[in-house]
Amino acid sequence: MSSMKDVYLVIGGSGFVGRHIVQQLLDRGDIVSVFDIVQRYHDVPFYSGDITNENDVANALRKSGTTCIIHTASPPAGLKDAPLYFKVNVDGTAAVIAAAISAGVRKLVFTSSAGVVFNGADITDIDERLPYPGIPMDAYNDSKAKAEALVLAANGKGGLLTVALRPAGIFGPGDRQVMTGLYQVYERGQTHFQIGENTNLFDWTYVGNVARAHLLAADRLETPSPAPPLAELEKLPAVAEE
Ligand code: NAD
Repeated sequence: MSSMKDVYLVIGGSGFVGRHIVQQLLDRGDIVSVFDIVQRYHDVPFYSGDITNENDVANALRKSGTTCIIHTASPPAGLKDAPLYFKVNVDGTAAVIAAAISAGVRKLVFTSSAGVVFNGADITDIDERLPYPGIPMDAYNDSKAKAEALVLAANGKGGLLTVALRPAGIFGPGDRQVMTGLYQVYERGQTHFQIGENTNLFDWTYVGNVARAHLLAADRLETPSPAPPLAELEKLPAVAEE
């Protein structure tokens, strides 16, 4: 692993997951800035901007000296606004990648979603090899899948290393979606209903663990060391055959 310490830019760092990532980076003594359309915290350098504007991202990268981008920005799930999802998640992520490559950024960690492979049918025992569904679930998940594909395809371009993480449901302090929805169900007195046989399963992850996964992914995102020269290998002791 490289000994060079990264300088981080958390895009969407005013949001639920992004804020936990910022907090964990600060806790371990890293240098971190935030890029977002809204400012909610004032303890780190803040760059106001929209990821759909490549210049906004390029300026923030230049001024902050970023070497590692953690891109968590997205409109919230559940909106009936397909053009917004495609504009922010697909065009915006393409702009982040282009700005990152131009600025010589080393690493890009992208917050994708488990929904990128879900089309409404149960899926069990799958891994990353499962292809994106032919008919996507909705515009949010479709746009997240297209953004994820762009991020993965950018790996190695101009020296940029990329990785995407796919959290499912996320809970914990700062959440603005899940608890609000649960409370609305409670207020409407809809808690006595059961859909199906009560056997469906869904993954939920504590936000601190999702944030930690982003830090670990960034830490491990290093160019593999080149194989040692053959002459070095030949100096190694021969392995005795049993
Ligand atoms: P959030 O809404 O709390 O945070 C998203 C942040 O992105 C906000 O601060 C928002 O202002 C910012 N943003 C939105 N559009 C932007 C733009 N055009 N330019 C710059 N900033 C912009 O959402 P969250 O729950 O923290 O989600 C973070 C990421 O995790 C998202 O990419 C989401 O798709 C993914 N995700 C979330 C969940 C979940 O349960 N919350 C589950 C799976 C994946």
